[in-house]
Amino acid sequence: MALRFFNTFSREIEEFEPGDISGRPIRMYTCGPTVYSRAHIGNFRAYIFEDLLQRHLELRGYKVYRVMNITDVEDKTIRGAREAGVPLQKFTEQFKGAFFEDADTLRIKRADEYPAATDQRYIDRMIEMISALVSKGLAYQADDKSVYFRINKFPDYGKLAHFDLTQLQSTGRVKHDEYDKEHIGDFALWKAWDEADGDVKWHSPWGPGRPGWHIECSAMSTALLGDQIDIHCGGVDNIFPHHEAEIAQSEGVTGKKFVRYWLHCAHLLVDGQKMAKSLGNFYTVPDVLAKDYTGRELRYALVRVHYRVPLNFTWEGMNEARESLGRIDEWLARLRQIGKSGNAERPTPNPQCPTTAFEEALDDDLNISAALGFLFESIRQTNRAMDQKEMDAASASAWLDWWNRINAVLDLEAAVDAAIPEEVEQFAQQRENARREKNWKRSDELRERISALGWQVRDTKDGPKLTRGAGST
Ligand SMILES: [Zn+2]
Repeated sequence: MALRFFNTFSREIEEFEPGDISGRPIRMYTCGPTVYSRAHIGNFRAYIFEDLLQRHLELRGYKVYRVMNITDVEDKTIRGAREAGVPLQKFTEQFKGAFFEDADTLRIKRADEYPAATDQRYIDRMIEMISALVSKGLAYQADDKSVYFRINKFPDYGKLAHFDLTQLQSTGRVKHDEYDKEHIGDFALWKAWDEADGDVKWHSPWGPGRPGWHIECSAMSTALLGDQIDIHCGGVDNIFPHHEAEIAQSEGVTGKKFVRYWLHCAHLLVDGQKMAKSLGNFYTVPDVLAKDYTGRELRYALVRVHYRVPLNFTWEGMNEARESLGRIDEWLARLRQIGKSGNAERPTPNPQCPTTAFEEALDDDLNISAALGFLFESIRQTNRAMDQKEMDAASASAWLDWWNRINAVLDLEAAVDAAIPEEVEQFAQQRENARREKNWKRSDELRERISALGWQVRDTKDGPKLTRGAGST
């Protein structure tokens, strides 16, 4: 089955046509964070969806070249820097660092490029694009000295969002003194400097100022990926006005179709409500880790729902994620043991053969629920076969190979346990001695001390086994 995606532009599931990509990677652009505060788990839901998409394309043999921008200048960053009393760059730097830290915690693959909007190269490109739009009559400088896109001159404006222009209301992304603009929906390409901007300004043919948010993405995407992009992603809240504006600007300059496939990720809710600081249900990645969950568990909780379905984040869901990962871990440990054991078991009458159902589910518009359903059904069946001693070493190895293949997409395997610290080993030895002496009190105390160090001791028929406890990957 060919790859199929829901294209927001057509509102239809479309077969993914690689087009002329033979010999070149798929060009993918994903709108990145605005670095004015730490990104929340709703932002990361979208980034994890994009990660899943990239990894699945790669599993299917495509090369992907992905660009994710960093928005380090717009209204919120300027306001934040002013309130903190620090230069803009210093203010945004901390949140850039936090973004990469959280992305690593969630095992999100790094993009090939992370262009920053304040990079002079891209500022120059923005100015160049705005000049081109002005000379084509698609943009104009208003009395407030800002430059606006003239949406009435771009007949396709509204097509992505399926919006009727006459219904347009102010979007909140533009300055509110609407009198300067010809149409309420005209959006700023260049914002003239005003006092509140402090020393945040660049020179331009229209006077000092700064770029609008939308032109940043048009400039960085076309500068790094060329005039035409294969896949452009973002959250549903980016569709309008941001992506609509990106199309108008980019196509207004190049005259070519800007994006072939638009993919958008649905919202994340917390306990069934929109996440908001005022509701006390606003979480960042460190907030979740502080409750003793791991990045791997959060990754699972955020990836397991189809990207076009709103995801309801709950702590119960986090516990389910922990349980599901525990099942995977145990299953892998059993398979490895059989795989290592040579051929102690009698061979299966019908060797089990992993199928390609997992990948095929993902081919179908990244149907992760079906793919995970297949994974857990496979785990159930193979566990039963292992219970009945009907799994030979070759079959176990085949399942492990299959897991490695799908884990390239999921990236959900437990990190290899770090070496056991000497202190933990010593406590375990002392506990073993206490057990031999039937000193249960002492044995329990030592178990507690081991646990306090982040380790767990399990008594097996081969003696005590140390594993990393909850709270670590
Ligand atoms: Zn963008």
